[in-house]
Amino acid sequence: MTGAIVWLRDDLRLADNPALRAGIDHGGDLTVVHVLDDQSEGIRPLGGAAKWWLHQSLTSLDADLRQRGSRLVLRRGAAPDVIDQLVADTGADGVYWNRRYGPVEREIDAGIKAALTDRGIAAHSFAASLLWEPWTVLNGSGEAYKVFTPFWRAAQAMPEPRHPLPKPRTLPDPSSATGDDLADWALLPTSPDWAGGLRDAWTPGEHGAAKLLEDFVEHALEDYDQRDEPAMAATSDLSPHLRWGEISPYQVWHRLHGKLEPHQRQQAPAFLRQLAWREFNWHEYFHCEQLAMVNVRREFDAFPWRDAPEDELQRWYHGTTGFDLVDAGMRELWSSGAMHNRVRLATASFLVKNMLVDWRIGEQWFWDTLVDADPANNAGNWQWVAGSGFDAAPYFRVFNPDRQLERFDKHREYVRRWVPADEERPEPMLDLRETRQRALDAYDRMRRA
Ligand code: FAD
Repeated sequence: MTGAIVWLRDDLRLADNPALRAGIDHGGDLTVVHVLDDQSEGIRPLGGAAKWWLHQSLTSLDADLRQRGSRLVLRRGAAPDVIDQLVADTGADGVYWNRRYGPVEREIDAGIKAALTDRGIAAHSFAASLLWEPWTVLNGSGEAYKVFTPFWRAAQAMPEPRHPLPKPRTLPDPSSATGDDLADWALLPTSPDWAGGLRDAWTPGEHGAAKLLEDFVEHALEDYDQRDEPAMAATSDLSPHLRWGEISPYQVWHRLHGKLEPHQRQQAPAFLRQLAWREFNWHEYFHCEQLAMVNVRREFDAFPWRDAPEDELQRWYHGTTGFDLVDAGMRELWSSGAMHNRVRLATASFLVKNMLVDWRIGEQWFWDTLVDADPANNAGNWQWVAGSGFDAAPYFRVFNPDRQLERFDKHREYVRRWVPADEERPEPMLDLRETRQRALDAYDRMRRA
């Protein structure tokens, strides 16, 4: 008996999915599987908001597969064991997936590929989540770029990213392989159910992603030069969809190079540049595997972080610092699973510089609460703010949240969405000027150490 397994991971879509295409072309029945691997050593457990997203996304994917005569098989366990068992259950002689770039995931995938190949089973992987795989954009000495601008210049000089593949209209019959009930994975919060704000804000799944891209291009792209104003709907909101691969960067890239009105075309390069930051962070993660744990610039290992008391951290987590922009951002995050980029910068800087708290504590909070929590983008941006990344903000750049508010939310439109005007506000928890100086002194101490 022949047949194929398509193992979907961070690519929960039917369109532009090379692994799915290969599985179809393989012939025979087709098993489309998602594995919840919370057992392989070194896999970082998903945060709460990401679990919520995954549940919704898998539901949407299964519905799309069923519409085309297939279905999604869910299995839980260490991926090598699960895939091995699934091959035995289905008699498949081909297994296909799109590549992942995290260090642990790469090792798992390489092990599975070698084991399958040894047994004469076709095992093939494809590029689908990044426009440029991390080993393809290198400097003249064959090394990874450490600074974004030359990286972006080099990437743009590469051949154009391939065109996206169409969504298959029908799919081969599924095998008889059985799987888990999604509900048994308990990805949704129950006691309490804190996901109301997430449900209001998001439509996970491939359809939601495609609609968002179209809406963005039609209605917001022309305002992208105002993307730093958090009250404006001037950005795409595509990050969680990209995180879970409900839309591929190839689809986004080619939409932005496709039919656009002149006023939209003007903003396309700025938008693609942001998209390229996602690529750059993945390159950095590929070449610096401990990105979420270790300072890229090792001199920061000697940084004298404060061991902040829990009640201070709680004020930051829950948006009661007494600084409007910080509090609005942290509440937006807690409620909706997202935060505007400009406000992410301000809240992160507040934690790392004013509160002098190790960036890894903030990274972990964001990891738990963001729907777009992404191993490379989250850690890469935290290291950028902390000054410990390769291409990072210079440490002495301390965002002043009050000045940021004046600049980017002058009329308090954003702040009022999350911090009611009549709320009794706590006193500011710290003095901005003093803590800025304390941060600069700490930086000096580190440099001298
Ligand atoms: P748009 O402006 O519409 O940009 C389009 C796409 O480009 C985004 O969806 C995203 O994939 C990418 N992008 C945009 N800005 C950045 C950036 N600065 N770095 C990397 N990619 C970018 N982004 C994540 O996807 N996941 C994270 O976990 C994450 N954590 C962050 C933590 C901190 C401390 C900071 C400062 C930023 C973080 N970002 C993260 C980057 C950025 O804030 C979000 O990608 C952006 O706010 C998403 O909104 P959007 O989709 O409307 O962006």
